[in-house]
Amino acid sequence: MPKRVYFFGGGKAEGQGTQKELLGGKGAGLAEMTSIGLPVPAGFTLTIDTCAEYYDNKKRYPKDLDKEVRQHIAKLEKVTGKKLGDPKDPLLVSVRSGAARSMPGMMETILNLGLNDVAVEGMAKKFGDARFAYDSYRRFIQMYSTTAMGLSKEPMEEMLHAIKHKLHISDDKDIPAESLKQLCSDFKAFYKQKKGEDFPQDPIVQLWGAIGAVFNCWEADKAITYRRVEKLEFLKGTAVNIQQMCFGNKNDRSGTGVCFTRDPNTGENVFYGDWLINAQGEDVVAGIRTPMKLSELAIKYPGANKQLYQVRAILEKHYKEMQDLEFTVEDEKLYMLQCRTGKRSPAATFTIAADMVKEKLISKEQAISRIAPEDIERLFYPVIDMKIKKADLEKVKLTTGINAVPGSAFGEVVFNAADAEELAKAGKPVILVRKETSPEDVGGMHAAQGILTQTGGKTSHAAVVARGWGKCCIVGCETLNINYEKQEFSVGSKIVKKGEFLTLDGSEGIVYLGKLDLVKPELPEAYYTIMKWCDGIRTLKVRTNADTPYDSANAIKMGAEGIGLCRTEHMFFDTEERRQAIQEMIVADTIEARKSALAKLLPFQREDFYGIFKAMAGFPVTIRLVDPPLHEFVPHEEKQQRALADKIGVPYEKIRHRIEQLHESNPMLGHRGCRLCITYPEILEMQVRAIIEAAVQCKKEKIKVFPEIMHPLVLDLKEFKFLEERTRKVAKEVMDAAGVKVEYLVGTMIEVPRAALLADQIAQAAEFFSFGTNDLTQMTMALSRDDAGRFLPDYVDQKKAAIFKDDPFQSLDQEGVGKLIKIGIQGGRSTNPKLKIGICGEHGGEAKSVKFCHRVGMDYVSCSPYRVPIARLAAAQAVIEGAASNGKHGAVKKASKRKGKKK
Ligand code: ADP
Ligand code: MG
Ligand code: MG
Repeated sequence: MPKRVYFFGGGKAEGQGTQKELLGGKGAGLAEMTSIGLPVPAGFTLTIDTCAEYYDNKKRYPKDLDKEVRQHIAKLEKVTGKKLGDPKDPLLVSVRSGAARSMPGMMETILNLGLNDVAVEGMAKKFGDARFAYDSYRRFIQMYSTTAMGLSKEPMEEMLHAIKHKLHISDDKDIPAESLKQLCSDFKAFYKQKKGEDFPQDPIVQLWGAIGAVFNCWEADKAITYRRVEKLEFLKGTAVNIQQMCFGNKNDRSGTGVCFTRDPNTGENVFYGDWLINAQGEDVVAGIRTPMKLSELAIKYPGANKQLYQVRAILEKHYKEMQDLEFTVEDEKLYMLQCRTGKRSPAATFTIAADMVKEKLISKEQAISRIAPEDIERLFYPVIDMKIKKADLEKVKLTTGINAVPGSAFGEVVFNAADAEELAKAGKPVILVRKETSPEDVGGMHAAQGILTQTGGKTSHAAVVARGWGKCCIVGCETLNINYEKQEFSVGSKIVKKGEFLTLDGSEGIVYLGKLDLVKPELPEAYYTIMKWCDGIRTLKVRTNADTPYDSANAIKMGAEGIGLCRTEHMFFDTEERRQAIQEMIVADTIEARKSALAKLLPFQREDFYGIFKAMAGFPVTIRLVDPPLHEFVPHEEKQQRALADKIGVPYEKIRHRIEQLHESNPMLGHRGCRLCITYPEILEMQVRAIIEAAVQCKKEKIKVFPEIMHPLVLDLKEFKFLEERTRKVAKEVMDAAGVKVEYLVGTMIEVPRAALLADQIAQAAEFFSFGTNDLTQMTMALSRDDAGRFLPDYVDQKKAAIFKDDPFQSLDQEGVGKLIKIGIQGGRSTNPKLKIGICGEHGGEAKSVKFCHRVGMDYVSCSPYRVPIARLAAAQAVIEGAASNGKHGAVKKASKRKGKKK
């Protein structure tokens, strides 16, 4: 028979702080505080497993539970020297719920259990205070009737209110004893009227009623919903804590409060909290009276205050974490009723962790391990002002979508990129609303404050591009019904027109009507401190994916150590001039025409590369030659095609024909990547020329440069050699002509499974590999990133198919795609030990994937600028976790560099 009940009291506890899964957070905390000698009223905990048994057993208590509870009541009576139901001096208890994870407000507590018509008189006499006794009794009747017996809260609250009104009293504590006594009678009469029976007088009946109530609230609708929303469905049940009462409502030398051992908003090392004189239970948080600051406790009751400060110090030393505490003072003596790790703002997470290292409570490694990727994300983005009340937010909530990029933004609704650019130029904030986005929208996306799309997932075009800029973005908002013609969209019956304001919460994926106040969090000093520690520990380098000098400069600020992916094609959309030049190149039907169009592109590319090199000041810059299928660059509507024809002086028919020719039924597997340069080597020549010329210019200006020229979609050594030879030939020509030597590398992306399998061959000629895990995932899993949104959620849904734990486009499929990566790394290094290896897919900024990259021995990861700090953190955590799993203790030494690894 399992042990179902655990006792705590008299300085000893059967349970421990580590047993949260068995005793619940509250039970574990009470046991721990008891054993380390803090003043905790005695009691006992019914385990979570008992609750699970109750549900497994069609809501019947396990057979021997009754006996075990009786034994523990006897023990509690012995420790406290009081008896349940004693007419002269009754033992009173609270019955408290407590799951393994905090579920605020979901489950309720019953206080002062054990009182009845006789005991209340005994209590009044014993303490010489009828007000106190009847105040306790009326509270108990209220809580028991509503929480255990399901009566609604309002009627009794109204009766209480009516008495105060009649007596012209505003504060509960001023109600005289006689009135409280009357109130108790009224409550009981009301109870009888509603339930058809007397209010229970037998404490044992009361106790089982309360235990049942706690168990049953586990499956209340609101609790079930809460667990679903918070992804806590794995929890098995709640524990029940039965604990001797201490009385904050006894007199004016008593009170109750809640506090944090440090400021949970700023993280500052100050005691932070509220308390109320002569009050009980939830009075403090219920907002019945304005609570007092802890500093007032110091003035009014220095004795209790001193005890509380001692407890704070003991608990922080013991748990080495900021604690959230609940306490009660009875006759100026302190009792501790709850402790748990306190929730805090992202800024406070950093500050507390860094301070605790300085205070020698924890090590740097522990501090680093305590930071979650979300803490970093939330530090950077503006958020909706927390001062706005939840209820007010609810009122303006329009709909929800997928939270693609965190942060918040507001602006006027526009439906196309041109409008976004135009309004932004006029200094107006805009939200770009699209069914989906494509490379042609990039200008407008950049101009917008936020992006909202009807389709797509977290790796759709909109999400990836927005993430690169750290721009708030919600995708897959299926409830949107967009009408581009009318320039409006609807959600149900609500219509939103162009020019109306929306506020997006990209962290939660919520769309609000109107303009909500936003606040930009400030980076705490501790952020820099902890990131520096991360940099000291990690061995994996962190680069960024950036396409412009602006992004590059930004990425450097975020701590990037180079560019792992610069996508040249993004440069072609920047201005009308550039768009036109690339389109002219694409529709050219002779090599001369193509070369002449390419000549127009050359200066643009050179200028961009120069800017990027300059911003990266000597860090390596990997530049990928043109990658997408050409049809993505040309207009598909007749009107625009005609305009293009006019501009470049080619007949419309010819243009239309050429564009039709470019159409492919499966472009993802079509004429793209390095295949374009196999067909049109002149594109390669122009791009390499631009890169090397820019590098030469830098060198002349004494700016350090280190370009890495990358060929995408390679699948073969011969293919790669064809490209490599041409690359080197052009580079040499440029360098010879300028009389300047530039150090550069030629390498490839590994994004076709065949390339991973034949990596040993390719590495004979390639100087670096960059795993393009977006395409590699698509091709390995035969999953189109753009179309998988229709069914992939079912695969990831843990309640449905649960085939994948995560979306493989967000978190690397370590088992399958990861295996190809391992094969690729091993193969590549077997023929070329100096091979430099990195990753440039979306996964390079996702913590779990970054840790994988560390484990398989990559040299660097590359991700969007805003995820650079996340990658730095994850890379450091990977070292710490590696040391832990190797059984090493203490500080992590900087791992020695792998043999033969190039700097
Ligand atoms: P929650 O899970 O909502 O925090 P608790 O079980 O902590 O609920 O109870 C709420 C409040 O009731 C506590 O903060 C405390 O003030 C009061 N309380 C609970 N048990 C006792 C007790 N044994 N003595 C005095 N007050 C108690
Ligand atoms: Mg509590
Ligand atoms: Mg690719």
